Amino acid sequence: MNDNLFSILKSNFPDDLTTTFLQTGSGRSVSYADMLARSAQYANTLRALGLGPGERIAVQVGKSTEALMTYLGAIRVGAAFLPLNTAYTPAEVSYFLGDAEPRVVVCDPSKEDDIGAVAGKAKVETLGQDGASGSLPERVNAAPTAFEEVRCEADDLAAILYTSGTTGRAKGAMLTHKNLSSNAEALAAKWQFTAEDRLLHALPIYHTHGLFTASNTILHAGASMIFLPRFDADEVVSLLPQATAMMGVPTFYSRLLANDALTRNLVKHIRVFISGSAPLSPDIHREFELRTGHAILERYGMTETGMITSNPFDGARRAGTVGFALPGVEIRITEHESGKELAQGEVGDIEVRGPNVFNGYWQMPEKTAEEFRDDGFFVTGDLGMIDDQGYLNIVGRDKDLIISGGFNVYPAEIEAAIDELPAVAESAVIGVPHPDFGEGVMAVVACKAGETLEEGDVIASLSDTLARFKQPKRVAFVDALPRNAMGKVQKNELRDRYAETFQRPAK
Ligand code: AMP
Repeated sequence: MNDNLFSILKSNFPDDLTTTFLQTGSGRSVSYADMLARSAQYANTLRALGLGPGERIAVQVGKSTEALMTYLGAIRVGAAFLPLNTAYTPAEVSYFLGDAEPRVVVCDPSKEDDIGAVAGKAKVETLGQDGASGSLPERVNAAPTAFEEVRCEADDLAAILYTSGTTGRAKGAMLTHKNLSSNAEALAAKWQFTAEDRLLHALPIYHTHGLFTASNTILHAGASMIFLPRFDADEVVSLLPQATAMMGVPTFYSRLLANDALTRNLVKHIRVFISGSAPLSPDIHREFELRTGHAILERYGMTETGMITSNPFDGARRAGTVGFALPGVEIRITEHESGKELAQGEVGDIEVRGPNVFNGYWQMPEKTAEEFRDDGFFVTGDLGMIDDQGYLNIVGRDKDLIISGGFNVYPAEIEAAIDELPAVAESAVIGVPHPDFGEGVMAVVACKAGETLEEGDVIASLSDTLARFKQPKRVAFVDALPRNAMGKVQKNELRDRYAETFQRPAK
């Protein structure tokens, strides 16, 4: 048997290959037969460019059908696919190229010179967001439309994804064919995707969420997707009636709620709305259910592991939790230093083991060893606890844990309490240097449009509900929290911005 991810996905493609695989926002349709032929052309082209097992292809291009075909072609030819966020500057790309040493790098035609200057030995090809311009499609158009997948072992490298890593050097997570195929299989089964499904796909494809969680799961189910270059609430609203499912980051859901066209009737054909990549606020969960009748299904995962847990498809989807371990995946909560497993209800490190867990960081064996326990569990860097009903609750990243006066303060608990205030839209709680306490708890709050609050109001509202050491000593107000494209609040940025808050005045 060939463990190449594409071969495994292909075994589930519909018998009738004229079935739609993908449709674009403008209504262009790509059948499974078209996708097989086009990705074969990419595989043939990439092979001619010297790609194959043991080689890497870095890709920094806008989202398009052709970009997806580049990914599929790379997998078919047995090379490792390395997607790069389109926001990275050539100086940042230079680090990734120097580290990963790809044989080929694909960029937008407008960046050819800049990327060429940092590409080293890599061959530079171009692909425009329109999918037609650039040197790569030109080569691809002339290539044969049949390709036999290169044989791969389960543990062979399929992709390298650099983690957003806000501290230290970005690390390249090495994902194998088995990591990706096992996760696609688990998700298609758990979320009950079938050939009848049509997923509304508005996520970027340089990240694990849009590339693997969404696209691989759809391919594994032989289903189809509406493939949009970006999330635009009006466009999404206009296309939702044609979809049966949507995957998104929490900001997609808050933006949909801000759109009056989102009604129960609009989404009556939808089978499931799924959220992840950042915490979904219980408020949004509730409001969305009230408006549409759909309880958003929240799941949890990360670049290094693919998806780890999910709320149930059948059964209670509990707001503020991320559900249960996926089939074949084990999780446990441990004490950081000793690695000792903690009892239910106790907060500690979330650790995970299973076929989904990556093969280590590219050329960083020591960093890899630091993050794995001897028995193969990976320490995710997230803190959580398993509640009395067995659902995993995430309380934050361990680097966001605040230690104030020797006490552990978990930001998520305080953020949830602040978010209860009717005037609050969103909040982030951070620790910043404090002369007496080591770190002082500080809240950064964005009020809803037209609402205002004073610092004292926020602090007073918490005095009955939270122990004193957890209460923010200062509250700053902002129009909106800084977030990245995946909807994650950039706490590092906030810590930098407010670093001086508790410093003693200079003498
Ligand atoms: P990334 O590697 O960019 O996918 O980021 C993974 C991180 O996102 C995880 O380690 C979590 O900190 C966070 N994350 C993902 N899904 C959730 C979720 N449903 N709730 C809270 N945090 C999440």
